[in-house]
Amino acid sequence: MNANAKPVETRAKASVRAGRHVYDALVVGAGPSGSAAAYWLADAGYDVAVIERKRFPREKTCGDGLTPRAVRQLEDMGLGDIIARAHRYVGLRTCAYGHQLELRWPDHPSFPSYGYVITRHDLDMLVAERAAKAGARIFYETEAIEPVIDTAVRSDASRDKRLPKLLGINTRDVKSGRMEELKARYIILSEGTTSRISRHLGAVRDKGLPLGMALRGYYTSPLHDDPFIESHLDVRNSHGDVLPGYGWIFPLGDGRVNAGVGLITTAGRWKGINTSEMLDTFIRNSAGKWGLSPKSACGPATGGRLPMGLSTSPKTGTNVLLTGDAAGSINPFNGEGISYGYETGRLAAACVAAALCGAGEDAIYSYEDRLQAAYGLYYKIGRTFVRMISNPEVMHRCVQAGMHSNALMEWLLRIMANLLRPDETAPAEMIYRALLSVARVAPDPEDFLTGIGTATR
Ligand SMILES: Cc1cc2nc3c(=O)[nH]c(=O)nc-3n(C[C@H](O)[C@H](O)[C@H](O)COP(=O)(O)OP(=O)(O)OC[C@H]3O[C@@H](n4cnc5c(N)ncnc54)[C@H](O)[C@@H]3O)c2cc1C
Repeated sequence: MNANAKPVETRAKASVRAGRHVYDALVVGAGPSGSAAAYWLADAGYDVAVIERKRFPREKTCGDGLTPRAVRQLEDMGLGDIIARAHRYVGLRTCAYGHQLELRWPDHPSFPSYGYVITRHDLDMLVAERAAKAGARIFYETEAIEPVIDTAVRSDASRDKRLPKLLGINTRDVKSGRMEELKARYIILSEGTTSRISRHLGAVRDKGLPLGMALRGYYTSPLHDDPFIESHLDVRNSHGDVLPGYGWIFPLGDGRVNAGVGLITTAGRWKGINTSEMLDTFIRNSAGKWGLSPKSACGPATGGRLPMGLSTSPKTGTNVLLTGDAAGSINPFNGEGISYGYETGRLAAACVAAALCGAGEDAIYSYEDRLQAAYGLYYKIGRTFVRMISNPEVMHRCVQAGMHSNALMEWLLRIMANLLRPDETAPAEMIYRALLSVARVAPDPEDFLTGIGTATR
């Protein structure tokens, strides 16, 4: 922690009222990616503010599942002891076509071999408060309304492949309606899927890349403290047809489970699928042993979208960066976005810190390269994987083959959760071989493996 952090904070409080203060960094959104970015910048001693339109704690539609990747980030932020009070689980029970396999999280030198299930109501509050304790100033119930673009610098996102330079963000106090411009040298947009400011600036989602859609509800269950989270790979519609999606039951350890259904595909192939009906059918067909029924529901189910595979571009401008869902950073293999929110927020903070130390806009532009280096090839393979499983026939055959091999499924779990060990030196090649071995039983494998072959060369 930089020794200057406290005096900077005091100066900030005095001049913000006058509207003259220029923060080192301003973060829009206090979800996983925004709070992580704010924490890492504040911990390094920078003068950082966060604008969050909701009052925390607040509900956030999510499966509430933290994988070992997410736990590692929380531990790095000093939240290891607090998060240990949540429900710890040891692995994934995967179920399909009458079979089930229990797969434990692998031993890994960098990640723990456990995860947690915790409501976003509690989790997001913990991380935002951690950022505040490190010195970030958080303005709750303050909505970012529009960016203040530096018109002295000409730019066109569609032509330049960069977002325009910003001077600040116009904000509105949700309760009083009072408008105020907050100024900053660097701005991190962590607004989630709504992406009001990013879209205003010209960032767009590539519609050819995977988008998920998911619906979840809370249910009381006698198995609320099961040591495994559960996924179902054969979810169906009310006519009994298998759908290109999955169902989950994640035990919260507090008398409840989080149960939901998700669809992951490209090119809007799930259009026309009724997710409410899908969830009802899933609860009726698959959740019996958990004691779930419409009667055990704690309230109405809510849903949301999952932008995947780094699908939004551009992700940077001279002094702007997009993180988490705003950058489309969810893992296409498994729909996990919390850890990637923490990781992209941390990466963005590192780039802003470098820029503030004198590296300037080059450091900001390096963010896209660093994202590509961290996730590019992996997500490319993930996109091919989504294309493959979007075909119900292929999905059916792959799942049936996988469910007869514990070793293969353990391996796939490591791949899908991005938990390959460093000694597995050629992960892309390994993924290729895993998918190929599964796909051999599927019709016309060449059709969907072409992309992977290219990716591994
Ligand atoms: C049904 C469902 C289930 C999921 N299950 C899981 C799971 O089990 N595990 C997992 O890892 N991921 C899961 N995800 C994905 C995960 O929820 C997201 O990837 C994650 O929340 C992204 O974090 P973020 O910080 O980018 O955005 P968000 O969490 O969406 O945070 C954005 C924040 O910005 C605020 N904001 C937005 N606009 C403005 C504005 N204009 N002004 C001020 N504030 C603003 C919002 O109020 C919000 O607090 C699920 C998603 C869905 C929809």
